[in-house]
Amino acid sequence: MTFIPHVIDGEEVESLDGARFESVDPWTRAPWAEVALGDARDAERAVTAARRAFDTGPWPRMGYAERGKILHRLADLIEARGGELALADTTDMGKPISDATAMDVPRSAHNLRFFADHARMSVGDLLPMDTGHHAYTRFEPAGVVVAIAPWNFPLMLETWKVAPALAWGNCVVLKPAEDTPASAHILGRLANEAGLPPGVLNVVQGYGPESAGQALTEDARVDRITFTGESGTGRAVSRAAAANLTPVSLELGGKGANLVFDDADLERAVRWSIQAVFSNAGQVCLAGSRLFVQRGIFDAFLDAFTAAADAMVAGDPKDPSTKLGPLSSEAHFNKVREYVEGAVGEGATIVTGGVGDGWVIRPTILTGASATARVRCEEIFGPVVVVDAFDSEDEAVAAANNTPYGLNAMLFTENLSRAHRVAAALRAGTVWTNCFFIRDLRAPFGGVGDSGVGREGGNFSREFFTEPKAVVMEITPAPRA
Ligand code: NDP
Repeated sequence: MTFIPHVIDGEEVESLDGARFESVDPWTRAPWAEVALGDARDAERAVTAARRAFDTGPWPRMGYAERGKILHRLADLIEARGGELALADTTDMGKPISDATAMDVPRSAHNLRFFADHARMSVGDLLPMDTGHHAYTRFEPAGVVVAIAPWNFPLMLETWKVAPALAWGNCVVLKPAEDTPASAHILGRLANEAGLPPGVLNVVQGYGPESAGQALTEDARVDRITFTGESGTGRAVSRAAAANLTPVSLELGGKGANLVFDDADLERAVRWSIQAVFSNAGQVCLAGSRLFVQRGIFDAFLDAFTAAADAMVAGDPKDPSTKLGPLSSEAHFNKVREYVEGAVGEGATIVTGGVGDGWVIRPTILTGASATARVRCEEIFGPVVVVDAFDSEDEAVAAANNTPYGLNAMLFTENLSRAHRVAAALRAGTVWTNCFFIRDLRAPFGGVGDSGVGREGGNFSREFFTEPKAVVMEITPAPRA
C-alpha cells in the first residue's frame, strides 16, 4: 500500500512514534494509503524547522524576484505532475477526475504564479509630509505561518494559503485534512524539487482536534494561522490563537443564497445554479444551497433545473464522464443522508434525488421546507438544495440575508440597476451576478458573520502575511548658500 510521510525540514519522514493511519478511497470504500499520523511532537518538530528556516535561512532574505523564480518553478512542476496530483485528490475524497484536472490543478499552479508576481510588483505607500519628512511602508514577512486546510478542494485551498505566505517571505507548516493527505505530500516533495530551502514548506499529516493540528495552533512560536474549515472548528482555532495573541485568518462555512429574478436569462441561470450547488457533490463552502426563484418563472425554472440535475452523471470519480462522485467519507455520507431523510419530516417535498450507489447522494432538490428546517438553516455540505418562490425584490433580499452565514450569494437578472442594488444589499463577502465561482485573485475573499474573520487575496493577503512597517525620514534642508 502507498505510504504518505510528513515532509519536515526538506526530508520525508515518519512520525516520531511510527504511528500511521489509513486513507480510504470513498468510491471503492477501501483503504488505499497509509499515512504518517502526526502528533504534538511532530507538529513541534515542523515548527522548529520553519522557525530556523525563517530566523537564519535564506528564504526571507532572498528578495522577491529570486523567490518568485522558485515559486514559478513549483507551479511548472505542479502542471507537469498534474495527472498525479489530480488522481491524488480524486482517490482521497472522490472529486471527479475531470474537475480535478481541469480546475483544481491549474488553479493551484495559478495561485503560485499569481502571488509570486503580486508580491514582486506590489507597491507601498509613499507619503510626503508638510513637515519636511516623508513616510513610506515596508511589508516585512510575518515569520512562521501555520496553514490548516479542509478536504473539499485539497490542493487548491492549500496553495491558496501557502502561495502568498511563501511569496511574502514566510516559512510555512501546512496541515492538510486527515481525509486528504496525498496531494499535500506531493506538494511538499515538489517544493523540495523546485529548490525551496529545507524548512520553508513543511507538511505535517494527522488529525486536527487533540493532535497535530491543535498543537500547531497552540505553539507560541507561530506568527500567523490561516485556517479554512467549519465555523465550529474556526472558533476552537481562534481560542487557541488568542492565548498567544497570534493573528488568525478564518475562512469558514456558508449557506449561500442564489436569487433568480423573473427577467433572468433562464438557460444561464439554470446552468450556473446547477454548478453552484452540485459541483464537487455540493461539498463547497460557496454552495448555492438556498435557491430563491421569482414566482413568475418558478415552474419553468424548476422543470429545467430538475432535468439538468437528473442528467448529471453520478458514479466512479475516476471515470472522465462522471460529474458527481461519492461524498468524501462514510461519516460525511451518513451526515448528508440524515439531512435528506429528515427533510420530509421538516415539511419538505423531494422533487428529485436521494441515495445513490455506495456513498453517492444524487443531486437532491427540496421544496416546501419549513422556516426552521435543518436543511434550510444548517450547512449540509452535500448535493442538496432548498428551493423557494418569492414575489418581490425586498422579500428575496430579506430571505437571502436570513442566515448567520455570509460567505457569498448569487443573483441572476438582466436588469442592470437591480443587479447593482441587490448586490449591495446582500450580506456576503462575495456576490456573483449572472455567474458563479469566477475569481480574480486580487479581490478580497472571505466571509461575514459565521463565515469567517478577515479577507485574503491580493493586497488583503499581503496585509495578513506581512508586518507592515512605517518608516519616517527627515529630509535635511539644503545648506544655505
Ligand atoms: P474541519 O473544520 O473539520 O477541518 C478543517 C481542518 O482543520 C482539517 O485539517 C482538520 O483536521 C483541522 N482541525 C480540526 N480540528 C482542529 C483543531 N481543534 N485545531 C486545529 N485544526 C483542527 O472542516 P472540513 O475539513 O470538514 O471542511 C469543510 C468545512 O470547510 C465546511 O464547513 C466548509 O464550508 C468549510 N470551507 C470553507 C471555505 C472558505 O473559503 N470559507 C472553503 C472550503 C471549505 P482533521 O481533518 O483531522 O479534522
